Order: sequence, then C-alpha cells, then structure tokens
Amino acid sequence: MLTLALRQRGLDVVLAERQTEWKAIGHGITIQGNALRALREVGVADEVVAAGAPFDRLRMRTADGGLIQEIISPPLGGDDLPPTMGSMRFLLQQVLSRHVHASGADVRLGTGIEALTEEGGGVRATLSNGSAELFDLVVGADGQHSAVRSLVGLEARRRPVGMAIWRMEGPRQSGMDCAELYYGGPRYKAGYAPISPDRMYAYVLDEDRRLESYGDRPLHELMAERAAGYGGLWPAIRASMGPDTTIDYRSLDATLIDGPWYRSRVLVIGDAAHACPPMLAQGAAMAAEDAIVLAELIGEGYDADKVLALFMERRQRRAAMVVDNSVQLARWEVDPAIPGADPAGLMRSSMATLAGPY
Ligand SMILES: Cc1cc2nc3c(=O)[nH]c(=O)nc-3n(C[C@H](O)[C@H](O)[C@H](O)COP(=O)(O)OP(=O)(O)OC[C@H]3O[C@@H](n4cnc5c(N)ncnc54)[C@H](O)[C@@H]3O)c2cc1C
Repeated sequence: MLTLALRQRGLDVVLAERQTEWKAIGHGITIQGNALRALREVGVADEVVAAGAPFDRLRMRTADGGLIQEIISPPLGGDDLPPTMGSMRFLLQQVLSRHVHASGADVRLGTGIEALTEEGGGVRATLSNGSAELFDLVVGADGQHSAVRSLVGLEARRRPVGMAIWRMEGPRQSGMDCAELYYGGPRYKAGYAPISPDRMYAYVLDEDRRLESYGDRPLHELMAERAAGYGGLWPAIRASMGPDTTIDYRSLDATLIDGPWYRSRVLVIGDAAHACPPMLAQGAAMAAEDAIVLAELIGEGYDADKVLALFMERRQRRAAMVVDNSVQLARWEVDPAIPGADPAGLMRSSMATLAGPY
C-alpha cells in the first residue's frame, strides 16, 4: 500500500520483501470499509471488491445457532463502498503486488534488511544481498515480529490474550450472507464469513495450547473436533473439512509500541507498530491507513521531522484504540464472568470512532 501511495506521488521507492515470491496464507480476511477507503486511495478497491464478497451486517448467535442480535455494519469507508467484505488473502495480495510491479517501484523479492545506520540526514540500509544503500527514510512494514523494529531498538509491549485460533477456508454454505459469530459454546467463540460467491472462511477461538499437545493428528480432524457443539451452519462446515482443507492454527497476542514508532529516519508501521488479535478485524485496515497517511504527509512536502511528528499525531491514538479494544474483547471471551462485559457495545463504539477521519 505504501509503495503504491508513494509512487502515485512520483517518489522513488525500493521495496525489499524477505520472501522470494508473493505468498499469502491461503484463507480469508475481512476487509472493513475503512480499509476499502484506503485501497480506493491507491486505485485498487474496485478490483478487490469484485473478487470478494461484500456484506453489510454481523450476526451474533448463541452456540446452538439462535439469534442474539444483528449489528448493521456502519459505512466506514463512505456510502459508495461496501461497509465490509470478505476476501481471500492471496487475492488481495495478487491485486496489490500486480499494481506494485506496474507502479515502477524497485521491487526486490528475497531481500531482507540486515543493518540500519544513520548517515548524514538519511539512513544507510545493509540488505541481505550485501549491498548498502542510502535512503531518506526507511519504513519497516515487516509485521508483528519486525526485524526493522529490533534493529533500531524500538520496544514493543507484547500482550498475550490467552487464546488460539483455528482457521479454515472452504465451500460457502447456502444461507451464508454475512459474517456470523457464535457465543457461549464449548470454545470461546466460533465464526465465519463469506469471501467469494462460493467460498468462505471459518474459525474457532480456542484455549491457547501448543499444537503438539493434541497429538500427531491431521489439522482438519482437530479443527472439526474443536468446532463440535456449534449449531447453525457449523455441522455443514465441519462436514466439509477434509485432508485437502487449508487449516491454520496459531496463538493470538497483541503488540504495541507505546511511544513514537520511529527512531531518527526509521519508522515502523502496520503490525510492526500495533498488532492486535482479530476481534475487530481491523489489523490490515490499520496498516493500510498508516500507509495512506504517511504518503499523504510526505507528499505535502514537510521535512522528515515534521512528517514523523504529524504521522504520530494522526495514527497513534487510533491504532492504540484498536489494539486495546481488541484485547478487551478477547479478555471478555476468555472470561465471560468479568463484570460489565459488553462486546456488542464495544464493537459499536469502536466502529463509530473508526468511521471518523484517519
Ligand atoms: C488470525 C488472524 C486473523 C486476522 N484477520 C484479520 C481480518 O479479518 N481483517 C484485518 O484487517 N486484519 C486481520 N488480521 C490482521 C492482519 O493480518 C494484519 O494486521 C496485517 O497482515 C498486517 O499487515 P502488515 O503489512 O503490517 O504485516 P504482515 O502482513 O505481517 O506483512 C509483513 C511483510 O513483511 C515481510 N517481512 C518480514 N520480515 C521481513 C524482513 N526482515 N525483511 C523484509 N521483509 C520482511 C513478510 O514476509 C511480509 O510480507 C488478522 C490477524 C490474525 C493473526
């Protein structure tokens, strides 16, 4: 996103990606309206929407499938974009990477950053191919375990949330017209969302155990077992799981840099600065917004110090709100006895804030 937004303004960009090819994990992602608004800024929203499954509400259900309530998703990206949608991660990546290559950016796959040193008014980056090049600004958009963040000694506070997630991608069941969440069942929560006219992704939020503790059994069997006890569309989803189903299991945690997200001329954005559990499905949206705001400020011609200071003013509170509220939602799911738990209320108030400018 940042590469596209900077190239739109005619700036030279070197994009270093550690992987040797564009490769996203093969399941779904919810792209909220504010993420679509950011995607539209770089000219790719129409393609992303056309390849996915837009919807406009979230249904909360009891474990047996009874309706608790339906929350109409606010138009976070404005009235001319879907309020929210499901997509396949690899499709989103395909659209973005195709545009990045076409943008004229200097894309270097299979390249990591080994060292960063201040030099003059810029920063010298030593890349994994041994070259050392001088840049005005280095931006680490390198994920929750950011190497760039460590290289410049930025401290991030890690908060485990006490849960793990099973995720699968499979055929969209008939009647699945929006995202649905099942509360109060045998696990912390189960849910799904359509991601294309005929595909969906489903997940179960579970206790945080090491995968090995389940023994040496295929993931599809384990996930089907952990999803037992949920009604509604779940029996059909469980029946659709087989040895070829793409399943991912991981622990969830949150990471946040409490102070500025930069040192000198090195800034981190996205999950490198603020990773959250997916309770609001806003992680990628926050990363996309970071990119747009940063490119906007750079394009306005401020000097680097001013860009970085203004960037923090616009991004820090909003991203921290998403992390804090996502962690709060996760805690309420792990321990429903916590007094005052109001997940629907917190989701609504978070979305109301996110509908505002970024
Ligand atoms: C279970 C789960 C479900 C989620 N669901 C949603 C959702 O529905 N909606 C949503 O908006 N968000 C969701 N998120 C959050 C979302 O996935 C992240 O917020 C988003 O991917 C962050 O993007 P990023 O570009 O900052 O980091 P990443 O997506 O982690 O990308 C980092 C990139 O940097 C590369 N890289 C890493 N290290 C180096 C290095 N040293 N040198 C060069 N390159 C490097 C990596 O290969 C990768 O390509 C979810 C997260 C989880 C864990």
